[in-house]
Amino acid sequence: MKSFPFLRWFQALIVILGLFSLILGLRTYFENLYKPSAKVAPSPGVKDPPLKTPNLPPLPSPIPDSPLPTPQLLPIPKATGKLTTPKQAITTLYGHFPYAQHDQKDLVLVAQYYGRKEYLASEAAPVFLKMKNDAEKEGVSLTIISGFRSINDQENLFQKQIQRLGSKEAAARLSAPAGHSEHHTGYALDIGDGKNPNLDLKYDFAASDAYKWLANNAYKYGFELSFPDGNSQGVNFEPWHWRYVGSNYASQIFANARRNTLP
Ligand SMILES: [Zn+2]
Repeated sequence: MKSFPFLRWFQALIVILGLFSLILGLRTYFENLYKPSAKVAPSPGVKDPPLKTPNLPPLPSPIPDSPLPTPQLLPIPKATGKLTTPKQAITTLYGHFPYAQHDQKDLVLVAQYYGRKEYLASEAAPVFLKMKNDAEKEGVSLTIISGFRSINDQENLFQKQIQRLGSKEAAARLSAPAGHSEHHTGYALDIGDGKNPNLDLKYDFAASDAYKWLANNAYKYGFELSFPDGNSQGVNFEPWHWRYVGSNYASQIFANARRNTLP
């Protein structure tokens, strides 16, 4: 029979298919067996059993606070000697900086004016005289109205100004209170016009030949106007009042006064 081998082939195929499906079946079975049961929804109505209170050992009683040590107070030392006074802030007085009085042994007589002898510091005096001589050569007469002034002299002058002008504030716009005048340094002076003495210590001195000459030349000798118009110290314009700043020492006097003084 020719068909017999075919049948046998067919039977073999059935057996193979059967075995194959058996393997597939077993595989599916085992896969389901080991699948996590997370997908399984909890059946409603079933409550979680109440949690058992664990049998924990009792908490240890808190450690009692140790008593704070009594602070050892140091005995307050007894005051000995004098109390040191706090350093005083240096301030301006009506816009004027404080100045120390120059060593009077260093003063040099420059001229006599209004019957008074006028002195300047030994460093400033010869420079002023040189400037005065040079101005003379150009037909300009420079006079020294006032040079060095002691603190006592300034006090007398300031009191006179108060009497004349009515108040300290008004006096301070024209003169510095004692201890606050550049004249104490021996490096400042009031200059007049020898040909126009009626302009001495007056604002109109600014229109004099002497002032015009000073405005153009004084800087060459190391002199400068202390209180130009609109100065930051708020002192009235004093066209007659000049100071010597032509040496390190001289310029330091005025720079220090400005730097060490509170506004
Ligand atoms: Zn002056």
